[in-house]
Amino acid sequence: MLKRHASFNWSMSIARLPAEKYYIYDMALILEGYSTCAICNQVLDKDRAYIGTPATTSNMLDDLFQMNDCGIHVDCLDAHPLKEKLTNYLERLNQLFPFDQQTCIVDGQPITNISDFFCTFLLTSDPAEALFKFNYLVINQKNIPKWKDREEFIFEVKRFLEEGKWKAFNDHPYLQNILLEMEQ
Ligand SMILES: [Zn+2]
Repeated sequence: MLKRHASFNWSMSIARLPAEKYYIYDMALILEGYSTCAICNQVLDKDRAYIGTPATTSNMLDDLFQMNDCGIHVDCLDAHPLKEKLTNYLERLNQLFPFDQQTCIVDGQPITNISDFFCTFLLTSDPAEALFKFNYLVINQKNIPKWKDREEFIFEVKRFLEEGKWKAFNDHPYLQNILLEMEQ
């Protein structure tokens, strides 16, 4: 049963973004002096500030995939056109912690048992996609059958897959697992 993002685990790390905010999530493993910046490909070391990003998407066709689970120099990110997009999604991800203090969108009640926690996470970062409005929805798993948008969601996920807009990293069937969860 899928309740978590493709390459998500529950260990937490802290990364610092240029905005001086602290974000808590599972972030990339970076080996200083060996790992390279996802934007400039230069080695990450103590000479230039860098951040580690978490896995926000396992869709290789999404814009944000290039900044997935990697290290990036702060100044490279500052000058990059996807900076705002990435920062927005990191902010949204950060709001999901802790998982046991989230509210279900179906009944408006807090989800007190973490095993009931279900989240769609990032489905697409493209606002032009119909799936976009379903990003990061938090639902108590017990409420999935009575979610009013469930059929529309299933329809849009299937369409996204059929249109070839999801190319799974490591063949992980993230979106297919979401469908299974929804159709049960
Ligand atoms: Zn760089």
